[in-house]
Amino acid sequence: MSISSRNKQRTYRSFLSSRVGQISPSGIRKFFDLLSSMEGVISLGVGEPDFSTPWHISEAAIHSLERGYTMYTSNLGMPELRQELSRYLRNSYNLEYDPNGELLITVGVSEALDLVTRAIIDRGDEVIMPDPHYVSYDACVILAGGQPVKVPTSQEDNFEISAAEIEAHITDKTKAILIGYPANPTGAVMPRDTLSQIAEVARRRHLLVISDEIYAKLVYGVEHICFATLPDMKENTILLGGFSKAYAMTGWRIGYAAATREIIAAMTKIHQYTIMSASTMGQVAAIEALKSGENSAAEMVEDYNRRRLVMVKGLNDIGLSCFEPKGAFYAFPSIKTTGMTSEEFAEKLLGEEKVAVVPGNAFGKCGEGYVRCCYATSLADIEEALSRMKRFVSKHRLA
Ligand code: PLP
Repeated sequence: MSISSRNKQRTYRSFLSSRVGQISPSGIRKFFDLLSSMEGVISLGVGEPDFSTPWHISEAAIHSLERGYTMYTSNLGMPELRQELSRYLRNSYNLEYDPNGELLITVGVSEALDLVTRAIIDRGDEVIMPDPHYVSYDACVILAGGQPVKVPTSQEDNFEISAAEIEAHITDKTKAILIGYPANPTGAVMPRDTLSQIAEVARRRHLLVISDEIYAKLVYGVEHICFATLPDMKENTILLGGFSKAYAMTGWRIGYAAATREIIAAMTKIHQYTIMSASTMGQVAAIEALKSGENSAAEMVEDYNRRRLVMVKGLNDIGLSCFEPKGAFYAFPSIKTTGMTSEEFAEKLLGEEKVAVVPGNAFGKCGEGYVRCCYATSLADIEEALSRMKRFVSKHRLA
Protein backbone atom coordinates (compact mmCIF):
# COMPACT_ATOMS: atom_id res chain seq x y z
CA MET A 1 0.00 0.00 0.00
CA SER A 2 1.46 3.41 -0.95
CA ILE A 3 2.11 6.04 1.71
CA SER A 4 -0.47 8.34 0.19
CA SER A 5 -3.20 5.68 0.24
CA ARG A 6 -2.24 4.76 3.82
CA ASN A 7 -2.51 8.39 4.84
CA LYS A 8 -5.81 8.65 3.04
CA GLN A 9 -7.12 5.66 4.97
CA ARG A 10 -6.06 7.25 8.26
CA THR A 11 -7.71 10.48 7.26
CA TYR A 12 -10.99 8.80 6.39
CA ARG A 13 -11.03 6.86 9.65
CA SER A 14 -10.60 10.12 11.53
CA PHE A 15 -13.93 11.29 10.08
CA LEU A 16 -15.83 8.45 11.74
CA SER A 17 -17.77 9.03 14.94
CA SER A 18 -16.42 7.50 18.13
CA ARG A 19 -19.81 5.79 18.60
CA VAL A 20 -19.37 3.80 15.42
CA GLY A 21 -15.84 2.96 16.50
CA GLN A 22 -17.23 1.41 19.68
CA ILE A 23 -19.31 -1.22 17.91
CA SER A 24 -18.03 -4.17 15.87
CA PRO A 25 -19.63 -5.55 12.71
CA SER A 26 -22.27 -8.16 13.56
CA GLY A 27 -20.55 -11.44 14.41
CA ILE A 28 -23.34 -13.19 12.50
CA ARG A 29 -22.95 -11.36 9.20
CA LYS A 30 -19.14 -11.24 9.38
CA PHE A 31 -19.01 -15.02 9.54
CA PHE A 32 -21.59 -15.58 6.85
CA ASP A 33 -19.93 -13.43 4.27
CA LEU A 34 -17.36 -16.26 4.17
CA LEU A 35 -20.06 -18.73 3.16
CA SER A 36 -21.12 -17.08 -0.06
CA SER A 37 -17.96 -18.28 -1.80
CA MET A 38 -18.20 -21.94 -0.63
CA GLU A 39 -20.13 -24.84 -2.12
CA GLY A 40 -21.85 -27.73 -0.34
CA VAL A 41 -22.21 -25.88 2.96
CA ILE A 42 -25.10 -26.70 5.29
CA SER A 43 -25.98 -23.50 7.05
CA LEU A 44 -27.31 -23.55 10.60
CA GLY A 45 -26.36 -19.91 10.58
CA VAL A 46 -28.59 -16.96 9.85
CA GLY A 47 -31.75 -16.92 11.98
CA GLU A 48 -34.27 -16.97 9.22
CA PRO A 49 -37.21 -19.25 8.42
CA ASP A 50 -36.55 -21.57 5.46
CA PHE A 51 -40.24 -21.29 4.49
CA SER A 52 -41.39 -18.77 1.90
CA THR A 53 -44.01 -16.31 3.03
CA PRO A 54 -47.44 -18.05 2.91
CA TRP A 55 -48.84 -17.41 -0.55
CA HIS A 56 -52.07 -15.69 0.55
CA ILE A 57 -49.90 -13.06 2.30
CA SER A 58 -47.71 -12.45 -0.76
CA GLU A 59 -50.80 -12.39 -2.96
CA ALA A 60 -52.41 -9.64 -0.88
CA ALA A 61 -49.31 -7.52 -1.46
CA ILE A 62 -49.28 -8.29 -5.19
CA HIS A 63 -52.94 -7.26 -5.49
CA SER A 64 -52.16 -4.03 -3.68
CA LEU A 65 -49.47 -3.25 -6.26
CA GLU A 66 -51.91 -4.04 -9.05
CA ARG A 67 -54.33 -1.55 -7.51
CA GLY A 68 -51.58 1.09 -7.38
CA TYR A 69 -50.94 1.17 -3.61
CA THR A 70 -47.44 2.49 -3.96
CA MET A 71 -47.53 5.72 -1.95
CA TYR A 72 -46.19 6.59 1.51
CA THR A 73 -48.50 5.69 4.36
CA SER A 74 -49.14 7.61 7.58
CA ASN A 75 -45.93 7.86 9.64
CA LEU A 76 -47.53 5.66 12.29
CA GLY A 77 -48.40 3.00 9.71
CA MET A 78 -51.61 2.23 7.78
CA PRO A 79 -54.69 2.77 9.99
CA GLU A 80 -56.04 -0.66 9.01
CA LEU A 81 -52.81 -2.35 10.08
CA ARG A 82 -52.81 -0.52 13.41
CA GLN A 83 -56.43 -1.54 13.95
CA GLU A 84 -55.67 -5.18 13.15
CA LEU A 85 -52.65 -5.07 15.43
CA SER A 86 -54.68 -3.57 18.23
CA ARG A 87 -57.25 -6.35 17.78
CA TYR A 88 -54.46 -8.97 17.73
CA LEU A 89 -52.92 -7.70 20.99
CA ARG A 90 -56.38 -7.61 22.62
CA ASN A 91 -57.21 -11.16 21.51
CA SER A 92 -53.79 -12.59 22.34
CA TYR A 93 -53.05 -10.86 25.65
CA ASN A 94 -56.13 -8.93 26.66
CA LEU A 95 -54.11 -5.72 26.27
CA GLU A 96 -55.74 -2.51 24.98
CA TYR A 97 -53.57 -0.32 22.78
CA ASP A 98 -55.14 2.66 21.01
CA PRO A 99 -54.34 2.32 17.30
CA ASN A 100 -54.17 6.13 17.20
CA GLY A 101 -51.16 6.91 19.32
CA GLU A 102 -50.07 3.78 21.16
CA LEU A 103 -48.87 1.72 18.19
CA LEU A 104 -46.13 2.45 15.66
CA ILE A 105 -45.39 0.34 12.58
CA THR A 106 -41.64 0.07 12.00
CA VAL A 107 -39.13 -1.40 9.56
CA GLY A 108 -38.85 -4.64 11.51
CA VAL A 109 -38.05 -4.94 15.20
CA SER A 110 -34.59 -3.77 14.13
CA GLU A 111 -35.86 -0.24 13.56
CA ALA A 112 -38.04 -0.36 16.67
CA LEU A 113 -34.95 -1.18 18.78
CA ASP A 114 -33.07 1.72 17.26
CA LEU A 115 -35.98 4.12 17.80
CA VAL A 116 -36.70 3.18 21.36
CA THR A 117 -33.09 3.42 22.46
CA ARG A 118 -32.67 6.80 20.76
CA ALA A 119 -35.98 8.01 22.19
CA ILE A 120 -35.15 7.28 25.83
CA ILE A 121 -31.37 7.36 26.22
CA ASP A 122 -29.32 10.39 27.17
CA ARG A 123 -25.53 10.28 27.10
CA GLY A 124 -24.24 7.88 29.74
CA ASP A 125 -27.62 6.31 30.59
CA GLU A 126 -27.36 2.62 31.35
CA VAL A 127 -29.51 -0.17 29.97
CA ILE A 128 -29.40 -3.58 31.60
CA MET A 129 -29.56 -6.65 29.36
CA PRO A 130 -28.78 -10.36 29.61
CA ASP A 131 -25.51 -11.80 28.31
CA PRO A 132 -25.66 -13.55 25.84
CA HIS A 133 -28.15 -11.35 23.98
CA TYR A 134 -29.29 -10.56 20.43
CA VAL A 135 -26.52 -8.69 18.58
CA SER A 136 -28.43 -5.42 18.11
CA TYR A 137 -29.16 -4.80 21.77
CA ASP A 138 -25.81 -3.43 22.87
CA ALA A 139 -25.10 -1.82 19.49
CA CYS A 140 -28.34 0.20 19.60
CA VAL A 141 -27.69 1.35 23.16
CA ILE A 142 -24.13 2.45 22.27
CA LEU A 143 -25.24 4.22 19.09
CA ALA A 144 -27.81 6.11 21.17
CA GLY A 145 -24.99 7.30 23.47
CA GLY A 146 -25.82 4.92 26.30
CA GLN A 147 -23.98 2.22 28.16
CA PRO A 148 -25.05 -1.44 27.95
CA VAL A 149 -24.77 -3.21 31.30
CA LYS A 150 -24.62 -6.96 30.87
CA VAL A 151 -25.98 -9.43 33.36
CA PRO A 152 -24.39 -12.88 32.97
CA THR A 153 -26.70 -15.83 32.39
CA SER A 154 -25.68 -19.46 32.17
CA GLN A 155 -26.72 -22.88 30.91
CA GLU A 156 -27.07 -24.03 34.54
CA ASP A 157 -29.81 -21.38 35.01
CA ASN A 158 -31.46 -22.14 31.66
CA PHE A 159 -30.09 -18.83 30.37
CA GLU A 160 -32.72 -16.97 32.39
CA ILE A 161 -31.86 -13.52 33.70
CA SER A 162 -32.68 -13.19 37.38
CA ALA A 163 -34.37 -10.24 39.08
CA ALA A 164 -31.79 -10.28 41.89
CA GLU A 165 -28.93 -10.04 39.39
CA ILE A 166 -30.69 -7.23 37.56
CA GLU A 167 -31.16 -5.37 40.81
CA ALA A 168 -27.48 -5.83 41.68
CA HIS A 169 -26.56 -4.05 38.43
CA ILE A 170 -28.86 -1.03 38.88
CA THR A 171 -27.15 2.34 39.42
CA ASP A 172 -28.48 5.88 39.45
CA LYS A 173 -27.83 5.97 35.69
CA THR A 174 -29.98 2.94 34.88
CA LYS A 175 -32.91 3.84 32.67
CA ALA A 176 -34.22 0.57 31.32
CA ILE A 177 -34.02 -3.19 31.24
CA LEU A 178 -33.89 -4.70 27.75
CA ILE A 179 -34.97 -8.32 27.50
CA GLY A 180 -35.95 -10.58 24.63
CA TYR A 181 -37.71 -13.87 25.36
CA PRO A 182 -38.02 -16.35 23.67
CA ALA A 183 -34.33 -15.60 23.29
CA ASN A 184 -31.90 -15.37 20.47
CA PRO A 185 -29.33 -17.05 20.67
CA THR A 186 -30.30 -19.49 23.45
CA GLY A 187 -33.95 -20.35 22.78
CA ALA A 188 -34.68 -19.69 26.46
CA VAL A 189 -38.23 -18.82 27.52
CA MET A 190 -38.82 -17.13 30.87
CA PRO A 191 -41.37 -18.57 33.29
CA ARG A 192 -44.06 -16.27 34.66
CA ASP A 193 -42.67 -16.12 38.22
CA THR A 194 -39.20 -15.00 37.08
CA LEU A 195 -40.71 -12.34 34.82
CA SER A 196 -42.98 -11.19 37.65
CA GLN A 197 -39.95 -10.73 39.89
CA ILE A 198 -38.32 -8.59 37.18
CA ALA A 199 -41.54 -6.59 36.86
CA GLU A 200 -41.48 -6.01 40.61
CA VAL A 201 -37.90 -4.65 40.42
CA ALA A 202 -38.80 -2.43 37.45
CA ARG A 203 -41.82 -1.04 39.33
CA ARG A 204 -39.96 -0.42 42.59
CA ARG A 205 -36.87 1.10 40.91
CA HIS A 206 -38.86 3.12 38.33
CA LEU A 207 -37.30 1.54 35.26
CA LEU A 208 -38.69 1.06 31.79
CA VAL A 209 -38.68 -2.44 30.32
CA ILE A 210 -38.05 -2.89 26.61
CA SER A 211 -39.41 -6.32 25.76
CA ASP A 212 -38.47 -7.73 22.36
CA GLU A 213 -41.08 -10.42 21.74
CA ILE A 214 -40.38 -11.14 18.09
CA TYR A 215 -40.43 -14.91 18.80
CA ALA A 216 -43.67 -14.77 20.84
CA LYS A 217 -45.43 -17.33 18.64
CA LEU A 218 -42.50 -19.72 18.47
CA VAL A 219 -42.85 -21.60 21.75
CA TYR A 220 -42.92 -25.35 22.27
CA GLY A 221 -45.09 -26.78 25.03
CA VAL A 222 -44.82 -23.64 27.18
CA GLU A 223 -46.77 -20.41 27.35
CA HIS A 224 -45.29 -17.15 26.12
CA ILE A 225 -45.83 -14.46 28.73
CA CYS A 226 -46.13 -11.00 27.28
CA PHE A 227 -44.28 -8.72 29.70
CA ALA A 228 -46.83 -5.92 29.40
CA THR A 229 -49.52 -8.22 30.86
CA LEU A 230 -47.78 -8.40 34.23
CA PRO A 231 -49.31 -6.22 36.97
CA ASP A 232 -48.74 -2.47 36.31
CA MET A 233 -46.38 -3.28 33.46
CA LYS A 234 -48.38 -2.06 30.48
CA GLU A 235 -47.37 1.58 31.12
CA ASN A 236 -43.75 0.70 31.91
CA THR A 237 -43.17 -1.63 28.97
CA ILE A 238 -42.22 -0.89 25.41
CA LEU A 239 -43.45 -4.02 23.67
CA LEU A 240 -41.70 -4.82 20.38
CA GLY A 241 -42.97 -7.41 17.94
CA GLY A 242 -42.80 -8.27 14.30
CA PHE A 243 -43.74 -10.41 11.36
CA SER A 244 -40.32 -11.71 10.25
CA LYS A 245 -40.19 -14.94 12.21
CA ALA A 246 -43.73 -16.19 12.85
CA TYR A 247 -45.00 -15.53 9.32
CA ALA A 248 -41.72 -16.14 7.46
CA MET A 249 -41.64 -12.49 6.38
CA THR A 250 -38.04 -11.45 7.04
CA GLY A 251 -37.65 -9.62 3.72
CA TRP A 252 -40.86 -7.60 4.05
CA ARG A 253 -39.33 -5.64 6.96
CA ILE A 254 -42.36 -4.98 9.14
CA GLY A 255 -42.40 -4.73 12.93
CA TYR A 256 -44.09 -2.63 15.57
CA ALA A 257 -43.83 -0.96 18.94
CA ALA A 258 -46.66 -0.73 21.47
CA ALA A 259 -46.27 1.65 24.39
CA THR A 260 -47.65 4.74 26.09
CA ARG A 261 -48.50 7.77 23.95
CA GLU A 262 -45.46 9.74 25.15
CA ILE A 263 -42.99 7.02 24.18
CA ILE A 264 -44.68 6.28 20.84
CA ALA A 265 -44.77 10.02 20.05
CA ALA A 266 -41.04 10.31 20.77
CA MET A 267 -40.23 7.25 18.67
CA THR A 268 -42.45 8.56 15.88
CA LYS A 269 -40.54 11.85 15.78
CA ILE A 270 -37.33 9.98 14.95
CA HIS A 271 -39.12 7.58 12.60
CA GLN A 272 -40.76 10.39 10.61
CA TYR A 273 -37.44 12.08 9.91
CA THR A 274 -35.38 8.97 9.22
CA ILE A 275 -37.83 6.46 7.68
CA MET A 276 -41.17 8.27 7.05
CA SER A 277 -43.18 5.09 6.86
CA ALA A 278 -42.53 1.35 6.62
CA SER A 279 -42.93 -0.18 3.16
CA THR A 280 -46.54 0.10 1.96
CA MET A 281 -46.47 -3.32 0.28
CA GLY A 282 -45.08 -4.88 3.47
CA GLN A 283 -47.82 -3.28 5.56
CA VAL A 284 -50.52 -4.70 3.28
CA ALA A 285 -48.92 -8.13 3.67
CA ALA A 286 -48.86 -7.69 7.44
CA ILE A 287 -52.60 -6.91 7.48
CA GLU A 288 -53.26 -10.18 5.68
CA ALA A 289 -50.94 -12.04 8.08
CA LEU A 290 -52.89 -10.72 11.07
CA LYS A 291 -56.28 -11.36 9.45
CA SER A 292 -55.70 -14.89 8.24
CA GLY A 293 -52.13 -16.03 8.84
CA GLU A 294 -52.79 -17.93 12.07
CA ASN A 295 -52.99 -21.39 10.51
CA SER A 296 -49.89 -20.99 8.39
CA ALA A 297 -47.94 -19.74 11.43
CA ALA A 298 -49.15 -22.67 13.55
CA GLU A 299 -48.12 -25.17 10.86
CA MET A 300 -44.63 -23.71 10.70
CA VAL A 301 -44.31 -23.84 14.49
CA GLU A 302 -45.24 -27.54 14.44
CA ASP A 303 -42.54 -28.15 11.89
CA TYR A 304 -39.93 -26.22 13.89
CA ASN A 305 -40.82 -28.30 16.91
CA ARG A 306 -40.07 -31.54 15.05
CA ARG A 307 -36.74 -30.15 13.93
CA ARG A 308 -35.96 -28.82 17.42
CA LEU A 309 -36.33 -32.27 18.95
CA VAL A 310 -34.03 -33.85 16.37
CA MET A 311 -31.44 -31.08 16.71
CA VAL A 312 -31.29 -31.06 20.51
CA LYS A 313 -31.17 -34.85 20.85
CA GLY A 314 -28.57 -35.07 18.10
CA LEU A 315 -26.29 -32.48 19.71
CA ASN A 316 -26.51 -34.13 23.14
CA ASP A 317 -25.82 -37.57 21.59
CA ILE A 318 -22.68 -36.20 19.94
CA GLY A 319 -21.51 -34.99 23.36
CA LEU A 320 -22.24 -31.29 22.84
CA SER A 321 -24.31 -30.64 25.93
CA CYS A 322 -27.37 -28.68 24.91
CA PHE A 323 -29.93 -27.04 27.15
CA GLU A 324 -33.47 -27.64 25.89
CA PRO A 325 -34.62 -24.49 24.10
CA LYS A 326 -38.36 -23.92 24.58
CA GLY A 327 -38.70 -21.12 22.07
CA ALA A 328 -37.41 -19.36 18.91
CA PHE A 329 -35.53 -21.66 16.49
CA TYR A 330 -32.05 -21.92 17.96
CA ALA A 331 -30.10 -24.55 19.85
CA PHE A 332 -27.10 -23.31 21.84
CA PRO A 333 -24.84 -26.27 22.60
CA SER A 334 -21.68 -26.08 24.70
CA ILE A 335 -18.53 -26.88 22.73
CA LYS A 336 -16.28 -26.85 25.80
CA THR A 337 -15.44 -30.58 25.47
CA THR A 338 -13.42 -29.73 22.35
CA GLY A 339 -11.19 -27.20 24.17
CA MET A 340 -11.69 -24.77 21.28
CA THR A 341 -12.95 -21.23 21.46
CA SER A 342 -16.32 -20.62 19.82
CA GLU A 343 -14.67 -18.93 16.87
CA GLU A 344 -12.12 -21.72 16.37
CA PHE A 345 -14.89 -24.29 16.53
CA ALA A 346 -17.05 -22.43 13.99
CA GLU A 347 -14.15 -21.76 11.61
CA LYS A 348 -12.80 -25.33 11.74
CA LEU A 349 -16.24 -26.88 11.43
CA LEU A 350 -16.88 -24.79 8.35
CA GLY A 351 -13.46 -25.54 6.86
CA GLU A 352 -13.38 -29.28 7.62
CA GLU A 353 -17.04 -30.32 7.42
CA LYS A 354 -18.79 -27.45 5.66
CA VAL A 355 -21.31 -26.84 8.41
CA ALA A 356 -21.92 -23.22 9.35
CA VAL A 357 -22.83 -22.24 12.92
CA VAL A 358 -22.46 -18.90 14.69
CA PRO A 359 -19.78 -18.55 17.40
CA GLY A 360 -21.48 -17.89 20.75
CA ASN A 361 -19.19 -14.96 21.57
CA ALA A 362 -20.92 -12.97 18.81
CA PHE A 363 -23.72 -12.58 21.40
CA GLY A 364 -21.59 -11.46 24.35
CA LYS A 365 -18.85 -12.77 26.62
CA CYS A 366 -21.10 -15.37 28.24
CA GLY A 367 -21.66 -16.92 24.81
CA GLU A 368 -18.03 -18.03 24.70
CA GLY A 369 -17.85 -21.83 24.82
CA TYR A 370 -21.11 -22.17 22.86
CA VAL A 371 -22.26 -22.00 19.24
CA ARG A 372 -25.67 -21.10 17.88
CA CYS A 373 -27.31 -23.65 15.59
CA CYS A 374 -30.46 -22.45 13.84
CA TYR A 375 -32.83 -25.32 13.12
CA ALA A 376 -35.07 -23.38 10.72
CA THR A 377 -33.76 -25.59 7.96
CA SER A 378 -34.91 -28.92 6.49
CA LEU A 379 -34.81 -32.10 8.59
CA ALA A 380 -32.60 -33.71 5.95
CA ASP A 381 -30.06 -30.88 6.30
CA ILE A 382 -30.23 -31.02 10.10
CA GLU A 383 -29.53 -34.77 10.03
CA GLU A 384 -26.64 -34.37 7.60
CA ALA A 385 -25.20 -31.47 9.63
CA LEU A 386 -25.40 -33.57 12.80
CA SER A 387 -23.57 -36.46 11.18
CA ARG A 388 -20.81 -34.10 9.96
CA MET A 389 -20.60 -32.53 13.42
CA LYS A 390 -20.35 -35.99 15.01
CA ARG A 391 -17.31 -36.78 12.85
CA PHE A 392 -15.81 -33.39 13.68
CA VAL A 393 -16.35 -33.69 17.43
CA SER A 394 -14.96 -37.25 17.62
CA LYS A 395 -11.83 -36.02 15.86
CA HIS A 396 -11.36 -32.97 18.11
CA ARG A 397 -12.71 -34.10 21.49
CA LEU A 398 -10.22 -33.50 24.32
CA ALA A 399 -8.71 -36.75 25.62
N1 PLP B 1 -34.93 -9.28 17.74
C1 PLP B 1 -34.43 -10.53 17.74
C2 PLP B 1 -34.30 -11.24 19.04
C3 PLP B 1 -34.04 -11.14 16.55
O1 PLP B 1 -33.56 -12.40 16.58
C4 PLP B 1 -34.16 -10.43 15.33
C5 PLP B 1 -33.71 -11.02 14.06
O2 PLP B 1 -33.04 -12.01 14.01
C6 PLP B 1 -34.68 -9.12 15.38
C7 PLP B 1 -35.06 -8.59 16.59
C8 PLP B 1 -34.84 -8.30 14.14
O3 PLP B 1 -35.97 -8.69 13.45
P1 PLP B 1 -36.66 -7.89 12.26
O4 PLP B 1 -36.56 -8.76 11.07
O5 PLP B 1 -38.08 -7.69 12.71
O6 PLP B 1 -35.94 -6.60 12.11
